[in-house]
Formats: sequence, C-alpha cells, structure tokens
Amino acid sequence: MKILMAEDDTTSRLVFGATLRKLGYEVTAVENGQKAWEAWKQGEYALLISDWMMPDIDGLQLCKMIRAESSLQYTYIMLLTALDSKGSYLEGMDAGADDFITKPFDEEQLAARLRVAERILALHKKLHTQATYDRLTGVWNRAAIMDSLAVELERAARQSICTGVIVADLDHFKQVNDTYGHHAGDTVLQEAARRMRLALRPYDQLGRYGGEEFLITAPDCTWQDAITLAERIRSAINAEPVDSQSEKIPITVSLGVTIGGDRIGEDAAMLIAAADEALYRAKKAGRNRVELSDRRT
Ligand code: GH3
Ligand code: MG
Ligand code: MG
Ligand code: MG
Repeated sequence: MKILMAEDDTTSRLVFGATLRKLGYEVTAVENGQKAWEAWKQGEYALLISDWMMPDIDGLQLCKMIRAESSLQYTYIMLLTALDSKGSYLEGMDAGADDFITKPFDEEQLAARLRVAERILALHKKLHTQATYDRLTGVWNRAAIMDSLAVELERAARQSICTGVIVADLDHFKQVNDTYGHHAGDTVLQEAARRMRLALRPYDQLGRYGGEEFLITAPDCTWQDAITLAERIRSAINAEPVDSQSEKIPITVSLGVTIGGDRIGEDAAMLIAAADEALYRAKKAGRNRVELSDRRT
C-alpha cells in the first residue's frame, strides 16, 4: 500500500519514512502541506500521514482541504502530533482526521494502527464497489455515472470545455426477453455493456442508466468526437449476434447525442434531457441509429 507522508522536520521525516518502508509500505515523503496537497490530488494515495504543525498549510488545513474535495476513494488520514502539542484531538477529528500518532512514535503501535487503517480502507473499497457498480454488467450504476457526470461538468465549466453525453438504448429489447427468455436478456445486457466499453476512449465513462439504457460521458469532446464515439458504439453493438446458450441473438442500439457543460449552469439534467430527446427521434426514425440533440447550432 502506498502512503503519502508530510513532515516538515527532516530528521523525523527520514526516520518515519524508513520505519514505514521497513513495515512494508511504499512511501512518498514530502516536506510541507502544499506538496502533500499536490501529490494527493494525483489520486494515488488512500492513506495520508501528516504532521500537524507545519508552516503554511498545516496538517489540520490539509485534512479540511482533502475532505472538502469530492473524491471517489476515501483517504484515511493520520495526524502526527508532538506529545506536548496544544492541538486538541477533537479539533483534529472535526477537521477530518481518522487517527493520531504522537511523536516520538512507538513502532509496534504504529504498525497496529496501520493495520486498522488498511482494514477500514479495504472495507470502504468493498462498500464503494457495491455502491457504485452495476452487478449484472459491471459498469457504473446510475448513481455513480450521474456523480461522475456532475464532477466532469464542474471541471468542464472551469476549463470552458465541452462534455459529450450519449444516451444509448437497446432496440426492441423486450422482444429479446419475450423470444429468448430473461436469462438470455441478461446475457445480452452483459455483452452489450462489454462491447460499449471496448468502443470508448480511455477517459470516457459508461454507466447503466436504466434497464436496457446506458449513459456515456465523454470528457473534452467536440460534436465530431461525440458523433464518432456514438457511431463506434452503434456499430460495435450491431457487429455480430450475441451468443446465448446456442442461440444467436441479433442486437442493435439507438443513441442520442449532445455536448455541452462548457458554460456554468448547464447541468447534468439538461444535457441528459437533450440527449434523451435525440434518442427519442432515433427510435422514431427506425432505430439502430445516432441522432443529435437540437442544442447543436
Ligand atoms: P425500444 O426499441 O423502443 O427501446 O423498445 P424496448 O423493447 O427496448 O423497450 P421497452 O422499454 O418496451 O422494454 C425494455 C425491456 O427491458 C423491458 C424490461 O423487462 C427489460 N429489462 C429491463 N431490465 C432488465 C434486466 O436487467 N434484464 C432483462 N433480461 N431485461 C430487462
Ligand atoms: Mg512540524
Ligand atoms: Mg429499448
Ligand atoms: Mg428503454
């Protein structure tokens, strides 16, 4: 497990870092809160050990900054305090710390507390997985893809870039269930999700929005990018029939496409409604096709 450590005192940083490495952890040690903040934002660290007293951004502030950020994984934070420190544990807890280690530290106690941290992080990860993935298809569930879209739109508005939003709905899926059975229907959903995922760019996100309806969010997207992506998904779905218990089930998908979010105030609901309206037209126009929202000017 990777640990991010912030400690302004050089000796203490070296000793602490060496101990953590000896205990089997991978450690990035930085000398102030600003550097810790920048490293943490890279998203690689689930465990932060920070000195409380540091110039500029101190441990308490660092806790608050991290807790204010909406990040997908939980960060377990341990604050280092000197025995004679004036800071109160409650103040640290309220700022978002999970545990405290007093300096000079006891190695065995540190090892034990790190086990607790790992246990809590593993539990959190499990709960997070259960809460964010769709069990059947393994893609994001509705709540998670909506969260991811909201986060993406915040970023897009700050940077004045567009996000592509695609709603994809399998065609005549009820007939698949009626003809081949519900189990075959489930297999089709799994395979459709797999094909869609393969058609995405690395940073695009895919979620199951409803029964046989999927939502794709495509960061930093032009109209042409979004159309190309939607077409790629359409032809991937339609490429060959799905195998299910010796049946070959042909499938197609209809897609509604929009882009936006580059202006403050354009929210997820607006973009999804626009993509939905385009999807509706794709269905009416005969299915197995891509339609664009009328937001395009
Ligand atoms: P359209 O082309 O207009 O979208 O027609 P459709 O038949 O795909 O749409 P409709 O909304 O009439 O039917 C969707 C069906 O999807 C009905 C529902 O039973 C089925 N469905 C939803 N969730 C699941 C699931 O998890 N597994 C299976 N097998 N079927 C599901
Ligand atoms: Mg210090
Ligand atoms: Mg459908
Ligand atoms: Mg539907």
